Amino acid sequence: MFWNEKSETLDRADLEKLQLQKLRETLKLAAGTSFYGQLFAENKIDISKVTSLDHLKDFPFTKKTDLRTSYPDGMIAVDKKEIVRMHASSGTTGKSTVIFYTQHDIDEWSDQVARSLTATGITPNDVFQNMMGYGLFTGGLGMHLGAERLGCMVIPASTGNTLKQIQLMEDFHTTAMHITPSYALHLADSIREQGVDPAELNVRKAFLGAEPYSVGVKHKVEEQWNLDAYNSYGMSEMNGPGVAFECEYKDGMHLWEDFYIIEIIDPETLENLPDGEEGELVLTHINRRAMPLIRYRTRDLTRVIPGVCPCGRTHRRIDRIKGRSDDMLIVGGVNVFPSQIETVLMKIPEVGNNYQILLNRVNNLDRLNLKVELKTNDLFGNENELRCLQSKISAEVIALITVTPRLELLSPGTLPASTGKAVRVIDNREI
Ligand code: AMP
Ligand code: ZN
Repeated sequence: MFWNEKSETLDRADLEKLQLQKLRETLKLAAGTSFYGQLFAENKIDISKVTSLDHLKDFPFTKKTDLRTSYPDGMIAVDKKEIVRMHASSGTTGKSTVIFYTQHDIDEWSDQVARSLTATGITPNDVFQNMMGYGLFTGGLGMHLGAERLGCMVIPASTGNTLKQIQLMEDFHTTAMHITPSYALHLADSIREQGVDPAELNVRKAFLGAEPYSVGVKHKVEEQWNLDAYNSYGMSEMNGPGVAFECEYKDGMHLWEDFYIIEIIDPETLENLPDGEEGELVLTHINRRAMPLIRYRTRDLTRVIPGVCPCGRTHRRIDRIKGRSDDMLIVGGVNVFPSQIETVLMKIPEVGNNYQILLNRVNNLDRLNLKVELKTNDLFGNENELRCLQSKISAEVIALITVTPRLELLSPGTLPASTGKAVRVIDNREI
């Protein structure tokens, strides 16, 4: 079953011809932004000389920090009145990475999601419970629009409120759900606590994404719910969900090549790698107007799966995400850089030099523990002051990353002193 058979099954030569044409249009748009205007000039790039997809390799990369430094509008490529929506990457306050959309971008994104869902066998008969956050995060609204476009009845349940989720599922006979893998397992436990077996509900398909997870977790979700789970990959910088999606064959995710040009690079040498080899995924927009990004380093590690998929789609597949080439952690669906936590801690005068970030999974949910050494032992006799400091640190961390830490304040010298590269993060989660 196809959403748009012609676009999804274009032969490679036609697909690449289309990519080149769309790349040239996109480069023109990008060159008009203050960010790329300057970047192209500095690198002496003449976009009119781009006559083959290979020429893309001459362009510099775009990084997440570039989005922050050009905040709020240094990358906008259209007249501001054409912009109809913004989203922001999860987690950070202040200068987060902001993404803008024109109506064209929103329409195309909905189509991209509708196409992805159709590839898994979803039809207008499905009742689609969307358990991703609605708001600045792209997961909620992005998937919502695509499922609605396809004709499903969408239940915009958003995250949390487990008992309500269960009631909605039972009363409206939910057949498909969009959910993080960790929440899918947690919800299954909660449903069993209510005396109901999740496998006996009507949910037959789950779209799992927004955080890294193993094949083992995927199988657990499939068994406990008696459903087919499909891997769904996306990121705000690239629209949101729908960038790459598993089809009914569940053997890698088709990355929609009429929306993005795929490159895999070695994160150390920055050289391009051939299909089959694992490296960092770099994507170039070719179907966005408000804010096209050229050679964006996603930092996600994967490979292009060689060969063609039996489903007939010609867009290449990427393997499940193996990790990241930076230190970004995803905690409860929120992107967290350890350096952000460090910045908060180091601004607090009572905090000493050593700290540790510990991540655990409790009842399938992420827990962030922070162990922080104080500068002196002075506060330890004074419960009130200690509690005050504890609240202050917690509040600052929550304000920055929206994740509530479990905080432990320690005497100086309690944590193992580093004898080389400090080990600040201990991730005990089994994913
Ligand atoms: P955000 O921009 O907040 O949506 O976060 C995007 C990041 O979430 C990606 O760069 C990946 O690191 C991660 N992510 C999204 N989908 C998946 C997936 N299916 N498997 C593993 N990681 C994912
Ligand atoms: Zn396929």
